[in-house]
Amino acid sequence: MPEDLSSSSSRLVVVSNRTAFGSQTRAGGLAVALWDTLSASNGLWIGWSGKIYDVPRRRSQVVEEDGISFALADMSKADYDGFYLGYANSVLWPVMHNRLDLAVFDSDYFTAYSVINRRFAALVAEHAHEDDLVWVQDYHFLLLAKYMKEDGWRGQCGFFLHVPFPAPEVFRSIPNHLDLAAGLCAYDVVGLQSRHDVANLARYLQEEMGAERIDSDRLRIGDHVLVLRHCPIGIDAGGFSAAATSAPAVQASHRLERFLGSRDLIIGVDRMDYSKGLPQRFEAMATLFDKYPELHGNISFTQIAPPSRSVVEEYVLLRQQLDELCGRINGDYGDLDWIPIRYLARGYDREELAGLYRLARVGLVTPLQDGMNLVAKEYVAAQDPANPGVLVLSQFAGAADQMPEALIINPHDTESVADAVHAALAMPLEERQRRWQALYKGICTEDINWWRERFLAAFDMQVSQD
Ligand code: ADP
Repeated sequence: MPEDLSSSSSRLVVVSNRTAFGSQTRAGGLAVALWDTLSASNGLWIGWSGKIYDVPRRRSQVVEEDGISFALADMSKADYDGFYLGYANSVLWPVMHNRLDLAVFDSDYFTAYSVINRRFAALVAEHAHEDDLVWVQDYHFLLLAKYMKEDGWRGQCGFFLHVPFPAPEVFRSIPNHLDLAAGLCAYDVVGLQSRHDVANLARYLQEEMGAERIDSDRLRIGDHVLVLRHCPIGIDAGGFSAAATSAPAVQASHRLERFLGSRDLIIGVDRMDYSKGLPQRFEAMATLFDKYPELHGNISFTQIAPPSRSVVEEYVLLRQQLDELCGRINGDYGDLDWIPIRYLARGYDREELAGLYRLARVGLVTPLQDGMNLVAKEYVAAQDPANPGVLVLSQFAGAADQMPEALIINPHDTESVADAVHAALAMPLEERQRRWQALYKGICTEDINWWRERFLAAFDMQVSQD
């Protein structure tokens, strides 16, 4: 039934923390994946309005764009602090990325998380019909289906986790992990980025919730059948590829070329987040300069890293650490006419980014832990087929499973990262083309539409239970 939502009476209802309402360009992965489907089925998108009030409005606001209805709820400052900055980004984000040491287990955060999940469950009950298919996005809403069911929801409800699911030993350190598990078990379908994430969650549910395996895709928990499916998220590969030759892309790349001269560009593009391995990446560049002095003056590493969540302490510390490292490395290795590392703490438009990727001989994507990593796919999409650059990719990014033709590295091993960058710079054209063709074919086949269809098809697996 979910295969063609546009021709059935049922609508797609999406719940995510942020929606794409009013965005000038729908460039983000989720918006590209969902917009047309929502539009064609007169769907509904529920999320946070992005507004913070001292006293929140009691009601949500319903607005329309392109045939899609949006139910947008405001948050109070206390909601935002406890739910978003607190539980979502100071408990779940670090734990899911294997950083228990950074988690702040404050019980008020969990209370705020439950309150917001309840409020959004009530919004679904208010605006959705039971023959709609509800698709909840990401770690902000682990408890939503449970509360929806408590409110009497009988329709279908699926969940996709964009971040990794850690080893059960890590997840069960969260004081309320059993509440979260009960929340997950209330869904009909849970989609995860990789097979590894599916294996972690399945083992956790077997150990903690008495789940039994029916087959590779299904678990039985009491009398409920839960479909667990790996659905690696993709990008709009064709669209991104076209963006890389657009006028803003060419303009941005000319600006950078004027700075580079004849030097080869190595590029990194990430939100400034501790999961992205930025200090280790900077250290790897220092190792590269140490080990290969012949590269001095001939390459330039540019890291684009707009600050995010900058009121959370860890993010402030990361910023300081990067400022310091960049200064030190440029002090140690720079020369009168050479700046080895450039680090720009700001964002760029999608087209501009695409142009910068295309100019770069090496795309350096080295997260310590990442659900997928879309930058890796965007870098490949943006390349010139006649003269493609080389992707150096962390084994700990979900994308590594789908992109074996990249140079796969361990981001903690700075020497091997340096060697991989060196090998990438020296790689003959024929090998670069061979690797790139395989990577590009992969991102075109398993693109953002493939991801959506694969997730929605999982609802059929739930129905066909034995
Ligand atoms: P995450 O979702 O953890 O931030 P991803 O790599 O999966 O990591 O997705 C990041 C998205 O944000 C990509 O689409 C990327 O193009 C975009 N992005 C990252 N850095 C910048 C930047 N400096 N300017 C504009 N967009 C950026």
